[in-house]
Amino acid sequence: MIENVHDRLKSSNEHSGPENFSRTSAGHMKTLKVKKGYRLNIQGAPSLDLEALETPTRVGATPENIPFIKPRLCVKSGDEVKVGSVLFEDKRNPDIKFVSPGGGKIVQINFGPRRVIQQIVIELDPEEKHEEFEKISEKDIENIDRNRLVKLLTAGGLWPLIREFPFRDIAVPERIPPAIIVSLGALEPFQPDCDVYLKESMPLFKLGLQALGRLVEKNVYVSICGPSSMDQLNGLVTHSLIGDYPADDPGVLLYYTRKSSSDNRCWYINGQDVLLLAQLLISGQYPTERIVVRAGSLATGRKHIKTRAGVPLSHLAGPEIETDNCRYVVGGIFRGYAGREGDYLGFYETSLTLLPLGEKTAVLDFVRPGFAKPSYSRTFLSSFNRSALNMDCKLHGDVRACVACGSCNRICPVDILPQLTYKSILADALDESLAHGLLDCVECGLCSYVCPSKIELTLTLRNAKKAYYKEQV
Ligand code: SF4
Ligand code: SF4
Repeated sequence: MIENVHDRLKSSNEHSGPENFSRTSAGHMKTLKVKKGYRLNIQGAPSLDLEALETPTRVGATPENIPFIKPRLCVKSGDEVKVGSVLFEDKRNPDIKFVSPGGGKIVQINFGPRRVIQQIVIELDPEEKHEEFEKISEKDIENIDRNRLVKLLTAGGLWPLIREFPFRDIAVPERIPPAIIVSLGALEPFQPDCDVYLKESMPLFKLGLQALGRLVEKNVYVSICGPSSMDQLNGLVTHSLIGDYPADDPGVLLYYTRKSSSDNRCWYINGQDVLLLAQLLISGQYPTERIVVRAGSLATGRKHIKTRAGVPLSHLAGPEIETDNCRYVVGGIFRGYAGREGDYLGFYETSLTLLPLGEKTAVLDFVRPGFAKPSYSRTFLSSFNRSALNMDCKLHGDVRACVACGSCNRICPVDILPQLTYKSILADALDESLAHGLLDCVECGLCSYVCPSKIELTLTLRNAKKAYYKEQV
């Protein structure tokens, strides 16, 4: 079990921890220092200002971007839907529903290769109707029956926000996890800051934590990275992580604090999503509002944006975009994916970063080679440049053989030795890759980023984890 309050008091002096990690405790909060990781200092960070975006005319759901699920459509083109009507369910467990982020008419269902459902597009009615789910009063949340709570969250389409280690699939409702980790971190460039989305919503956040407490065997942990301006968080945060990306990942916290193999089945959820759970329970309606960030060197108005779930990326990006030299990165720089212009914000994503494709050659680049180029490698002059650099999407080289530089090993926050794990996967030596700690991989993307040979380490490890998971189930 990762530490609960009593365990923490008992064990505050006994843990020495791995070399790249240390911890101290102050009051009820543990401070953990994660010494590996990386801080990518690039231009285009969003400000803490919050702008409300005008309502789009359409919103969309994108089943293809939800890992692991096998979606079964529950609607057809032309159907009228309300906010919260079921659009598709997971064939593996039909209780897991995904509901409409808008009320109106289904105007498009787009399929990709092999009939993969890519998008379900809803044209919004001016007066949207809402499905009405059961409402729970604030005082009843604390003692709500677990089965009833699960039913409400699954029917309301928000259960998939809770995910399970080590594979990061949607949590199995019947399983009672040892703990749930709520992450308030935003170290990956670029993610919404908890000070922005919690600013007016602390009471709701507390209700959400109470609800999560009904799902778990012992405790709900709240982890944060870096200082927060919100005093109200003081009594709620259980773990403060100090370090570079991905120190804020709940998988990193789990790696350094677990005490038995059963802890590997902890659940986790993003901080903002806790608010959504509470909103659904209190109002009996599917919450459509999301706070996301618009960022990246090509974005105008880089800030936090209050908008709708499933907003079109083009609407979120704003009008003044040089589309022929711009990549839409949906989600973070390391874990996100390249969005198409006609795409919609995915179920889990809370950021859009606009980066130059980088096909233009920089003027007079040969005079100061690599001075303005973000890179982990110290062979570039940029290692002396402390200012935020302009990142583009160019790969700067082809895939080559591993040169055994050790960069991936030095950076991996969970000590996996990515290079050796990668080799064991290629050699089909599953036991060996598991022994290296394959299942601890938090899929942060850093090993691929730092690899001078452009080897797709993260993707290979992620696919191996997936294949192993499929074999297990
Ligand atoms: S193996 Fe790579 S992706 Fe996995 S945790 Fe380590 S650095 Fe991150
Ligand atoms: S970073 Fe790339 S080249 Fe260097 S050891 Fe790892 S896999 Fe090999």
